[in-house]
Amino acid sequence: MFDSLKDRFEKVFSSLRGKGKLTEEDVNLALREVRLALLEADVNYKVVKDFVERVRARATGQDVLSSITPAQQVYAIVFGELLDLMGRDVKPLSISPKPPTVYMMVGLQGSGKTTTAAKIALKMKRSHKPMLVACDLRRPAAVEQLRVLASSIGVPFVGPEEGEIDPVRVARRAMERCSESLVDLVIIDTAGRFQIDEELMEEVRVLKESVKPHEVLLVVDSMTGQEAVSVAQVFNERLGLTGVVLTKLDGDARGGAALTIKAVTGTPVRLAGVGEKVEDLEAFDPNRMAQRILGMGDVVGLLERVQQAASEEDVERLSESLKKNRFTLEDMLIQLRQVQKMGPLEKVIEMLPVPGASKALKDAQVDPKRIKHMEAIILSMTPAERRRPEIIKGSRRRRIAQGSGTSVQMVNQLLHQYEQMKDLMKAFGKGSRKGFRIPQGL
Ligand code: GDP
Repeated sequence: MFDSLKDRFEKVFSSLRGKGKLTEEDVNLALREVRLALLEADVNYKVVKDFVERVRARATGQDVLSSITPAQQVYAIVFGELLDLMGRDVKPLSISPKPPTVYMMVGLQGSGKTTTAAKIALKMKRSHKPMLVACDLRRPAAVEQLRVLASSIGVPFVGPEEGEIDPVRVARRAMERCSESLVDLVIIDTAGRFQIDEELMEEVRVLKESVKPHEVLLVVDSMTGQEAVSVAQVFNERLGLTGVVLTKLDGDARGGAALTIKAVTGTPVRLAGVGEKVEDLEAFDPNRMAQRILGMGDVVGLLERVQQAASEEDVERLSESLKKNRFTLEDMLIQLRQVQKMGPLEKVIEMLPVPGASKALKDAQVDPKRIKHMEAIILSMTPAERRRPEIIKGSRRRRIAQGSGTSVQMVNQLLHQYEQMKDLMKAFGKGSRKGFRIPQGL
């Protein structure tokens, strides 16, 4: 996500950091790069111009230039301005005190609207009883897609009856069914088109008048950059949006849509689609986005992944081992499995809070297959060997290599890595180890 923008910002700041003191000229040069970086990322021209001017005004002030850490101060100013662009506080989706709450999903065809409706239902299922409603009646395939998604995540579904063509009737029927099926959240998927047209707008407007939704969420594809921004502008003018969902942020979107939508339309991005799977939805967090863009990594995202991957039992076991200062190969196996469960390694690496980490690790070609090999090696050991790795000498190493289909060299490497991890765990175990909890929900 935002790779080239991130690389450009990294260069700007490393050149600023190289200088002890900054002159106005240094700041201007850096800002020229920032301007180009943002334009290349497809951020709206006017937004870029205002952004650069605001940073310039604040960064060329005497107290910044004469401070002992001017580069850090410029960095903090850019960070703050990025936050302002995206909106500092993104509200969670609202819940009506008088159920049912109604969300209406709008957007162009192919933006990810139907998938996102199901993603929201799945997330909200933790605390509510959602229902999915298909009101895209022009495309039978869309109705079917939502029906299948609803059944795969186990939420009730309402769609058109044979020959029914009025979305308002379908929505009304869905609302009537709420109380008997104890549904307190209705998520309505509406018609999409490849382009904005009058008929579409009118159909969606009438539906909105009728169901009075608490949230009207426009789904746009982040890969379409400024196109997504224009779509948001039109939908907002015609319908009044309460938020935007930016999809396909897992791809190589350049960042233009994420950085421009709020500034141009006044409507904040509320959610981010980060993959094709129904679990791949996150609350849009400007703080995390700005951290990612400026190469500070995404620590919260990383911790969330760790937390999702680790079962309570595993965490318990590992803390026991740490407390007793006894980290074995069995613990290492648990950790390797957790790393695998965290998803594609590239996604995890991207979140590391080390400037340049993603590029350095990419260059080093971290190979997910290696983790599989490491797992196979540990599984080829006897329980005694896993618990007391010091007994693994020459002939045992050969047997393990053969059993796991690897080489003695790879077994040696794994044992070496184990020793390093053990030392690390020892150091870690000495400090206090408080569990972390990340707030869940949207
Ligand atoms: P709709 O026509 O707007 O209802 O779009 P769909 O929900 O059918 O999605 C269109 C395509 O985009 C499908 O292939 C989805 O799997 C895909 N898609 C949706 N959201 C995301 C996302 O966040 N990331 C990725 N990679 N693909 C997505």
